[in-house]
Amino acid sequence: MAGPTLLFASNIDDPAPWQALFARERPDVEFRVFPDLGDPADITHALVWRIPDGVLASLPNLQAVFSLGAGIDQIIRDPAFPREKPLFRLVDGGLREQMTEYALYGVLNWHRQMDRYRAQQAQREWRMLEAVHPSQRTVGVMGLGVFGSDIALKLALLGFDVIGWSRTPKELPGVESFTGETGLDEFLGRSEILVNILPLTDETRGILNAKLFDRLPGGGALVHLGRGGHLVETDLVAALDAGRLDWAMLDVFPTEPLPAESPLWNHPRVLVTPHIAAQAVSAAAESAILGNFNRFERGEEPTGRVDLSVGY
Ligand code: NDP
Repeated sequence: MAGPTLLFASNIDDPAPWQALFARERPDVEFRVFPDLGDPADITHALVWRIPDGVLASLPNLQAVFSLGAGIDQIIRDPAFPREKPLFRLVDGGLREQMTEYALYGVLNWHRQMDRYRAQQAQREWRMLEAVHPSQRTVGVMGLGVFGSDIALKLALLGFDVIGWSRTPKELPGVESFTGETGLDEFLGRSEILVNILPLTDETRGILNAKLFDRLPGGGALVHLGRGGHLVETDLVAALDAGRLDWAMLDVFPTEPLPAESPLWNHPRVLVTPHIAAQAVSAAAESAILGNFNRFERGEEPTGRVDLSVGY
């Protein structure tokens, strides 16, 4: 019987380093790059960021799908995705520190009023603004998984009053845990700075909407590094313009690249970044994915098995 054949498919990732990795570490694996499938019946595993709808379902001997990213919404949005096949996301993969840096930058930038000082600097204006001690500043982290828990813990170490929202309760030192729709009310009502790092699922799609912005204390900040599909862009612009929110730092958008006509580009109180909160660190991502591939082949449980019943 022929050995394993891995299909690589991504519209953003260069296949070359992955091909070199498998050639070096698993020379027995045949590496094919989409769209050069060869005989679809040969393909046993898929390593995917995005692949056109229906392709995975057309592979009769596919055993497992590995995501090149921490999220899998871009894979399972294919209506024909073979839901019975095991799907594994990238857990951390060297992204965690970068995600935390990004979130901390956003929180600290707004907390320390750096945009106001920059505007004063432009006017050569020497003026102290009133400071807030971090213990008097509540930061709400939506999503307390691999990334959110690290963000929350590090914000707590900096002395912020940190609260978190997740599907199941969490015990993280210095972080008050809220869950479900009932917990969401108090969580949002206290979140002067809201950090969103949820996965995109049927339940979280469009969650950053007018209703949510209205439940925040008012005049605070949003740091959004989850997925574009969480955000209702027009609601955000309205919340900013009405002063419901003072500032937003956004890494992900409903349409990427962000269209030239989006009002977010030149909104004076929005910082736009082009989906760079975390960029794949090849060595860490490579070892996480190769390790998972090897575990799966040995019949051991890989990390990051996606539970499609909850969507992440
Ligand atoms: P995890 O699966 O480890 O964590 C997800 C968290 O969200 C968990 O705490 C989970 O709750 C919570 N959650 C999920 N659904 C709900 C819900 N309906 N209500 C309340 N809480 C919910 O994911 P990661 O931390 O690894 O990644 C999170 C997301 O980050 C990815 O899905 C991806 O979209 C995004 N991302 C963005 C990047 C960027 O560059 N901007 C880069 C990489 C990822 P529980 O703990 O109870 O399961």
